[in-house]
Amino acid sequence: MDIKQGFVGTVGQTPLIRLNYFSDLTGCEILGKAEFLNPGGSVKDRAALYIIEDAEKKGLLKPGGTVVEGTAGNTGIGLAHICNAKGYKCLIVIPNTQSQEKIDLLRTLGAEVRLVPAVPYKDPNNYVKLSGRIAAEMENAIWANQFDNLANRQAHYETTGPEIWQQTDGRIDAWVAATGTGGTYAGVALFLKEKNPAIRTVIADPMGSAIYSYAKTGTLCSTGSSITEGIGNSRITANLAGAPIDDAIQIEDQECLEIIYQLLHYDGLFMGGSVGINVGAAVRLAKELGPGHTIVTVLCDGGARYQSRLFNPEWLASKGLRVPEIKKR
Ligand code: PMP
Repeated sequence: MDIKQGFVGTVGQTPLIRLNYFSDLTGCEILGKAEFLNPGGSVKDRAALYIIEDAEKKGLLKPGGTVVEGTAGNTGIGLAHICNAKGYKCLIVIPNTQSQEKIDLLRTLGAEVRLVPAVPYKDPNNYVKLSGRIAAEMENAIWANQFDNLANRQAHYETTGPEIWQQTDGRIDAWVAATGTGGTYAGVALFLKEKNPAIRTVIADPMGSAIYSYAKTGTLCSTGSSITEGIGNSRITANLAGAPIDDAIQIEDQECLEIIYQLLHYDGLFMGGSVGINVGAAVRLAKELGPGHTIVTVLCDGGARYQSRLFNPEWLASKGLRVPEIKKR
């Protein structure tokens, strides 16, 4: 018998998918960890589960308790699913710049959703800080604190990293991923470097994020902006701190769009925006390294979460972006 134990037992053990179009194009094996196949639909299910189970083990989260978080969406969605599966309440603070699909889904899942204006991290009303204050004022509540709670990257150090190592038989030359909290990138990078220090670990970054400049020059500095959601940062979180970074690659929105439309039309993979940044960086790295290398990245979530934006010509035009022209093959 092979039966998963509910939602919680179904998180992780995702397939590693060869991205055929980009692999054939570059002569490298470009592999995507299919995190969109987690039961809550994103890479954040793993962090959400580890954060909740860590709080349970420490006795911080008791029956009937509430999990509070500030999130761009996917962590909240993962937390809301797990709260339902385990009998907790869930309160999510989310900036009003995030896609309607994610906000609607959070409400459908039964989370209490507080929509707040998007203000920078240094502002006391930033959604992350606000969620921390709300949790502190509530009885029997925990603040998931995904940015600085190391249970997040531990999830990837203990599960995503080892899965990638096993699925490739250790034959991997590079790991490339964008960072939001940094949990995915750092957890996997730390694990893989322990297994083989020669594996290159590279950050993919959207415009408007300061992580690229940090990786290149050691100072946090950003220019431009991006339509991608859930990635990029203006600071080094506890989850990213101390992670090995060999290099960073910055990808513009139009290039990201080209990638996700090509993945959709040539490989049949309907992906969200951060996947365009990840695969775009993997393709650039493949061209830099030359044919014959194996590069692993993450397919963080699916495109349905962004249908009204990334796959909507009017919305793209309002951002000064074009619908990519995809030639029939
Ligand atoms: N892609 C998407 C769509 C996300 O929601 C997130 C999480 N914010 C990430 C990538 C980045 O993951 P992490 O927080 O582990 O850096």
